[in-house]
Amino acid sequence: KLYNEVQDLKGNIRVYCRVRPFLSGQNGRQTTIQYIGDNGELVVINPSKSGKDSHRLFKFNKLFGPAATQEDVFRDTQPLIRSVLDGYNVCIFAYGQTGSGKTYTMSGPNASSVADWGVNYRALNDLFNISQKRHSSIAYEIGVQMVEIYNEQVRDLLCSDSSQKRLGIWNTSQPNGLAVPDASLHTVKSTADVLELMKVGLTNRAVGATALNERSSRSHSILTVHVRGTELETNAILRGCLHLVDLAGSERVDRSEATGDRLREAQHINKSLSALGDVIFALAQKNSHVPYRNSKLTQVLQSSLGGQAKTLMFVQLNPDVESYSETISTLKFAERVS
Ligand code: ADP
Ligand code: MG
Repeated sequence: KLYNEVQDLKGNIRVYCRVRPFLSGQNGRQTTIQYIGDNGELVVINPSKSGKDSHRLFKFNKLFGPAATQEDVFRDTQPLIRSVLDGYNVCIFAYGQTGSGKTYTMSGPNASSVADWGVNYRALNDLFNISQKRHSSIAYEIGVQMVEIYNEQVRDLLCSDSSQKRLGIWNTSQPNGLAVPDASLHTVKSTADVLELMKVGLTNRAVGATALNERSSRSHSILTVHVRGTELETNAILRGCLHLVDLAGSERVDRSEATGDRLREAQHINKSLSALGDVIFALAQKNSHVPYRNSKLTQVLQSSLGGQAKTLMFVQLNPDVESYSETISTLKFAERVS
């Protein structure tokens, strides 16, 4: 194995937390995050209580405060990503309410500024660098797919023709290694190719949506990177797969207010996020039954959740005191699976 450092992390599920800063114009807002420790400890204050009862402690494998850069975050993600070249399946996703920084962490605010790149661009860039430079005894091919799950329907984001077509999901280990074999697979040779494809994906994501932001907060987007390595001497083939997932916003929708489409969306999101929580919980408990079949999301990600696969969840937090109850519910989700 080329990247043994991944083995050092205990278990196959790790949870990182990232607290985003207040944005410009939010200076002076009251925060609900009292303490961010180097040891992964986070203390949250309940604004409506006082004394000892008002504090709650949570612990993570890694914790990133408002000052953490995209590079800082990537440094602790890189070993996991590199293990894909050894044939591991890896799933990285960002969980949190809308506005908590999921897209910032996974993609970054601006693809044209390299310093701003989030995990997905950095991951592909790193895979290209490593696969091209270091292992001349293995020839790597890298292909990507990008799909969106909205109202329990899977849509190909890299092929506008199929925008109305419902895509099927294959059960487990495919001969071709694709969980969504109908979604177009694009061979990429450079980071420039990836940037180009992601642009197409983002444009297609907006199709039919009233506003991009609205839609993107209510659907899951999944960038899947398939790596195939051929050992030149023996022709032996090794496959690895990386799922990079920007989940739909986890916020509760007020049942008394939401109706029609909005309510239906909320129910689908709720169902798929709980299905994801149930799967990770079952894996963390080492249960013999893992309920993958309960949502499209868990079916698509199945090959990268459980078994030898490695999972990383970014728990995203908005520090604002007004987000307190969503923050606690996000932290409870994380607590259950870690
Ligand atoms: P989400 O995808 O969870 O809805 P976004 O990633 O869109 O949230 O983040 C909401 C806003 O906060 C955006 O304007 C984003 O640029 C900003 N933001 C999020 N995380 C950070 C961060 N770590 N540093 C600076 N700005 C951030
Ligand atoms: Mg987003």
